[in-house]
Amino acid sequence: MWLGTRNDTRISTFGHGCSLLPDHVSRYAMPMLDRIHIILVGTTHPGNIGAAARAMKTMGLSHLMLVRPKVLPNAESFAMSSGADDILQYARVCETLDEAVAECVWVAGTSARSRTIDWPTVTPRQCAGQLVAEARGAAPVALVFGCEHSGLSNDELGRCHVHVRIPTRDDFSSLNIAAAVQVMAYEVFVASSVDAEELPLSEVAGEYATAGEMELFYCHLEQVLVELDFLDLQQPRNLMHRLRRLYGRVRPDKNEINILRGILGAMSAAGAGRNHWRRDA
Ligand code: SAH
Repeated sequence: MWLGTRNDTRISTFGHGCSLLPDHVSRYAMPMLDRIHIILVGTTHPGNIGAAARAMKTMGLSHLMLVRPKVLPNAESFAMSSGADDILQYARVCETLDEAVAECVWVAGTSARSRTIDWPTVTPRQCAGQLVAEARGAAPVALVFGCEHSGLSNDELGRCHVHVRIPTRDDFSSLNIAAAVQVMAYEVFVASSVDAEELPLSEVAGEYATAGEMELFYCHLEQVLVELDFLDLQQPRNLMHRLRRLYGRVRPDKNEINILRGILGAMSAAGAGRNHWRRDA
């Protein structure tokens, strides 16, 4: 859904957005920075959305997505954007983070705190280098920011390939969300001026599976693990979280995901006719 202009009153419902480009324009033709999507989850203050848009625009980023904002961009947002109106007008609003990242092939989540389960963690500079390297391909990538009070949940961070922590002093680590967007956007801008040869190489022959395809795989995997009594949903012991970390590290391509889905189907069919795997056997 488009948010429309600041005077547009049709901007109050959630729904699917659409591409910034007409259908006949290839994603390859988009400026590379347009494939780096900035996603704000559950933002409470509309002024912060405007300040984030301003931070983006100064650094050449344009694609803003809002997941369940408490308040849709309003006059305060436009005032705080200081002229980055276009970014607010074209912002896409989604109901879930899964919906927002569905087409992305690489997702980085920002967090002021380190979490209980170890996750690959990179510096802002490393993250920016990877975002730019990935965005030189055809598919979009995303950089995700949490809400002002509680940041991203563990589930939301589990959707990300890496976590990024902006270095701060230990006892005062939480930046204002728009300030965090500014730091990351600056690093992306600097990385975007680096020669392609100096950036990390993409390691896959085919096309990476998108976050949407990976989500279908994780649902399927969970379902089969429950069927086989390997996963007890009452006592999950972080199993799915750990498996997400494993497959996120591996980054299967589309073909590999199809193979894994086929194996799950076969395991499910075989398990249906037999005794289930027993953890205490
Ligand atoms: N109280 C929250 C902080 C929320 S600040 C917490 O403890 O997680 C809002 C958002 O700004 C965070 O979710 C994150 O996306 C970003 N942010 C703030 N400080 C950051 C830091 N030091 N490193 C990375 N991201 C940060």
